[in-house]
Amino acid sequence: MFDLKFDENLCLSCPTGACLVKCQYMELDKEQAKEEIINIFRGKDSPVLKECVTCYACEEYCRRGNHPFYLITQRREDKGILTAPRAITRQWVNIGEPKGKYEVGRISKKALSFGFMPQFLDITKGRLFEDVMPSYFFGQEFFCNVVYIHFGNTSVIKKRLPGVIKQIHDLGVEEVVFMHDECFAAFDSLGPAFGMQIPFRSVHYFQYLYERLQTLKDLIKPLDVKAAYQRPCSNRLCSETHKYLPVIMDMIGVDLVQRTYEDENALCCGSIFRSMFGYDLAADVQKRNIDDMTDNGAQYCIFNCHGCQNAMTAKIQARGIKPVHLVELCRMAIGEDPEKGV
Ligand code: SF4
Ligand code: SF4
Repeated sequence: MFDLKFDENLCLSCPTGACLVKCQYMELDKEQAKEEIINIFRGKDSPVLKECVTCYACEEYCRRGNHPFYLITQRREDKGILTAPRAITRQWVNIGEPKGKYEVGRISKKALSFGFMPQFLDITKGRLFEDVMPSYFFGQEFFCNVVYIHFGNTSVIKKRLPGVIKQIHDLGVEEVVFMHDECFAAFDSLGPAFGMQIPFRSVHYFQYLYERLQTLKDLIKPLDVKAAYQRPCSNRLCSETHKYLPVIMDMIGVDLVQRTYEDENALCCGSIFRSMFGYDLAADVQKRNIDDMTDNGAQYCIFNCHGCQNAMTAKIQARGIKPVHLVELCRMAIGEDPEKGV
């Protein structure tokens, strides 16, 4: 059985209670924050178990690596507290069930993981990916299942993730570049937090892009555009990768506009809020987020996650902002034209 490694003593001696003090959806001071998280650990009731909207940010806010959001998720499940109607939860859990539907390219020692998202096949082209493609895989058999922490469900992850780890290991890969934050976090954060062993090296695609752009630096022509970055909830689970974003932007000549809702203070795309917590919360978060982009002169909105891109594209286009995935922007900077497929 996989149990969460959570150290109550780290919370008892915590100088900040940052996990819940910084939460954008609750108002708690330091002592209340520490008390609530300790209550949750000890299995007591806490309003946090009802009010948390699963933005994942406390995983980043806790600088002691104590996984407060994984704890909230585990205790919700222990107490039968659902975050979404049971039918919606069941529908989502069924979507990720391994059913023999997957695709594997010509696998070498290093491979790209697209998780559950075949659309990565359309953008992982050109010089940036010539050292690894067509070594890739995607499908339910390789789906990390981390999304179910939005639904207060760790048991499905504990049941499926070891099988996913074995599937990847059986491909014979030594290093996997994960194109989605949640997948990377499954093997870099959540799996190890629950005591799972990972028998391959996990690399986040931000690091991969950074290293490839260094190799191809003679091809870079600065794009000279202003852009806002839409940071996804799942990047909070691997927040150490966020440092690559401004460095990559510098390399390709993109001016990241200064925003209210950036870095630790980022707002999510709202899509999970709409399906789980209602239209009003999703609409409020999206409005504040997009106003913040336009108010600060963004020409582009850079997406890291296709889920965010799907949720926000029509709304940002209506405000005159162009959506682009980070990979496409990097390809543009080395003279490729992702829209024309070259
Ligand atoms: S979870 Fe982290 S930030 Fe929160 S009280 Fe414990 S140690 Fe502090
Ligand atoms: S996941 Fe987000 S909403 Fe929930 S407690 Fe953590 S910071 Fe607050």
